[in-house]
Amino acid sequence: MNSVRRGPEKNSKHKNHDTISKLTADNEIPFPNLLLSAIPQQVWTANATGEIDYVNEIICSDFGHSQQAILEHGWTAFVHKEDLETSVELWQKSLRSKNDYVTEFRLLFADGNYYWHLARARLIEQQGRPDIWVGTNTNIHFQKLNEARKDEFLSIASHELKTPLTTIKGFHQLLLKSMEDGKTKNYLQRSASQLERLERLIGDLLDVSKINAGKLTLNQDNFNFSQMLSDAVSEMNHIYTSHKLNLEIEKDIVYTGDKFRLEQVIQNFISNAVKYSPGASKVDIDCRIIDKNLIVSVKDYGIGIDPKDVKKLFDRYYRADNSSTRFDGLGLGLYISADIIKRHGGSFWIESTIGQGSVFSFKLPLLQEKYFEPKIRTNSYYKDRYITISCSQDSDIMNVEWTGYQDMHSVKHGGSLMVEYLKANQKSKVFNDNRLVPGTWSEASDWAATVWLPLMELAGLKYFAWILSESTFSQLSAEKSIDNEAKRSEIIFFNQAEEGIAWLGNV
Ligand code: ADP
Repeated sequence: MNSVRRGPEKNSKHKNHDTISKLTADNEIPFPNLLLSAIPQQVWTANATGEIDYVNEIICSDFGHSQQAILEHGWTAFVHKEDLETSVELWQKSLRSKNDYVTEFRLLFADGNYYWHLARARLIEQQGRPDIWVGTNTNIHFQKLNEARKDEFLSIASHELKTPLTTIKGFHQLLLKSMEDGKTKNYLQRSASQLERLERLIGDLLDVSKINAGKLTLNQDNFNFSQMLSDAVSEMNHIYTSHKLNLEIEKDIVYTGDKFRLEQVIQNFISNAVKYSPGASKVDIDCRIIDKNLIVSVKDYGIGIDPKDVKKLFDRYYRADNSSTRFDGLGLGLYISADIIKRHGGSFWIESTIGQGSVFSFKLPLLQEKYFEPKIRTNSYYKDRYITISCSQDSDIMNVEWTGYQDMHSVKHGGSLMVEYLKANQKSKVFNDNRLVPGTWSEASDWAATVWLPLMELAGLKYFAWILSESTFSQLSAEKSIDNEAKRSEIIFFNQAEEGIAWLGNV
């Protein structure tokens, strides 16, 4: 069986339920109260609607207020204003989804200073009693300061290393020009590639410290993307003599963005493709326009990536197990590339098979606004370039087919139509086909989990067969979309359409 079951399951997080309900029962046992007051940690509880109804003594002494005053002011009065919006948003989200609450914020202490805390809360469902949220705020101020010091050190060190290197590189080039052919010139030429490498490593460190400090700026301009890509590839063809870099490209694509930064992304993808395919002899690069998106893919025939590593690769310093010891690197290139692509409003994804190779792709929207012009729209049938919905009279199944690259706009648009058609046609089962969806649409998963799924259930959804795309990143987006504790419908993922149809026929 190729399907992955994700029906309603018992969540392990409610295991401690009995213990906690004892802890919080008023005056039931004196020991828990003593424990909560003595523990060197801020502890609080809130009711199901999110109102704080208990804070321990540590909170009172940290804030310099009585329990009653803190409950009256509310917790938001003590949160730094720069952290307030995100923490309130996440809290509201947890209240809706009943998922754990996790955030970091600065809290105002009695000494007038703000200190960084890691807040975590979990909903405890109690039989016969109202649900409660139990939360802790852990002081992480020193860790945060150390992190900031480390980032500052990285920034200073990479700046300081860059200046002498630039001078060395300049003299090196002068020497190379003035040198007659011979042994010495040969040595100089060989050291040039190491200088390039050093320059790239230092550049990456510098960029990461800029991203961390929110100082990586883009210089947006109109430029010929096709020309930039061909120039970058032909330059790299000179550097990487071990591999032939094949380029397929549509001519004269004009794009508005930061040419230098996008070239950096391409260089990173290509140099990785070469580095992680030591036994191969070619890399294929492809650039085309699909659905008003510029899509660039770099395909190698190398070591590939284990599925467990795939989604973490764009994290800072992350390196996959199969490469960390065999290949040089800092694990920064993809993190920087991801930031650059996101700032251009784009997205990226990876397809990979271990031992066979990988395709790294990114998508840049050419139009900011999408136009959803329906090709056909009746009461039971809808079709545009992204989605087709059909509800036939003689079945209780609504058929949905998604087509092409999706993003926040298209998912919201298609998802809302699904709610509308499900309700109007009074169906309870959905056959949701993602086989024609490449790439990723992870930016919309959160919306799908917290807004779309509850609306679908209100509209009558009971059984949902989700036929997955072959794209790993599209699958990850789908999985995140049903990550809602409060869901009541049964949603099952399938790789084969026939299995989805059979399941819907039987439920
Ligand atoms: P670095 O190559 O310096 O380690 P990157 O951020 O560019 O840093 O890449 C992060 C990790 O992603 C690499 O360490 C490697 O494990 C994996 N990786 C990147 N590109 C490829 C590829 N083409 N094939 C296999 N693994 C790759």
